[in-house]
Amino acid sequence: MTFIDDNLEAVGETVACRHCATPLGSRTEPLQLARVTEVDPALAGPGVRAEASNFASRTIVLRRTFCPKCLTQLKAEIVPADEPTLRSSVLSESP
Ligand SMILES: [Zn+2]
Repeated sequence: MTFIDDNLEAVGETVACRHCATPLGSRTEPLQLARVTEVDPALAGPGVRAEASNFASRTIVLRRTFCPKCLTQLKAEIVPADEPTLRSSVLSESP
């Protein structure tokens, strides 16, 4: 078993939730099976005050990624809606 972060671990080639052991993906696509929601960035909290349209012509979203079983939030990012998520990240171990 390889510790990835507080919420993820790898067992062989499978990446799983550390809280409920639900498989979430592989080392090449670690969050492939996670659930993703996209909402208004203002819902991120009181620190996001200005309208995103003041700074960008593209639609900006708060994209959150959750474990589909225990609903632990695995990642949150405020990004242009048309940009791919970091879900395509690849995990590798140091030699
Ligand atoms: Zn979980």
